[in-house]
Amino acid sequence: MDPDLERMVELLNEIDDILCCPRCDLALSRTKVVVGSGPLDARIVLIGEAPGRNEDEKGEPFVGAAGRNLDALLEKSGIQRRDVYITNVVKCRPPGNRPPRACEIEACHPYLQRQLEAISPKIIVLMGRTAAEAMLERKVNLGKEHGTVIEKGGIKYMITYHPAAMIYNQWLGDTIAGDFKKVSALLLEG
Ligand code: SF4
Repeated sequence: MDPDLERMVELLNEIDDILCCPRCDLALSRTKVVVGSGPLDARIVLIGEAPGRNEDEKGEPFVGAAGRNLDALLEKSGIQRRDVYITNVVKCRPPGNRPPRACEIEACHPYLQRQLEAISPKIIVLMGRTAAEAMLERKVNLGKEHGTVIEKGGIKYMITYHPAAMIYNQWLGDTIAGDFKKVSALLLEG
């Protein structure tokens, strides 16, 4: 196992045995728990919704079509994927890729919170409505609020669309790329 992943698993095991987690019903249908990937000293954390089919099989986040979109977005904005930490609101795949339920998000939240405490990022990118609403604890209108920077607890949060949205709405590519360029600019501000 990658040393950073191993260390993160150790930290999350203080909450529950993450790789065999039984805390919600998604445990019944998942193949692998997808903890996250990236360095534990990342300055940027990207948070998506939930693992999809490829992620569930491989145990890694953003490895399917959405992952390829994300790689392209990061490259365009001059951010290296190896420098960011990537995870999801829930660590197990919902059946048929349905959105995670509120009770599942709540059950998984202590893991996400612990990840953020351990990494202590400067910037958190909330990719999609599920991630934005879970982290900001309110309703979010992506059309109006994407590209917005929200400062909370010393962290800058950027709301954008989920890279999977580009698969069926290619016009969103430029919009999300614009949001990621703002993330890159925020990083330069320090
Ligand atoms: S989604 Fe989170 S809380 Fe639910 S079983 Fe998976 S790791 Fe546990």
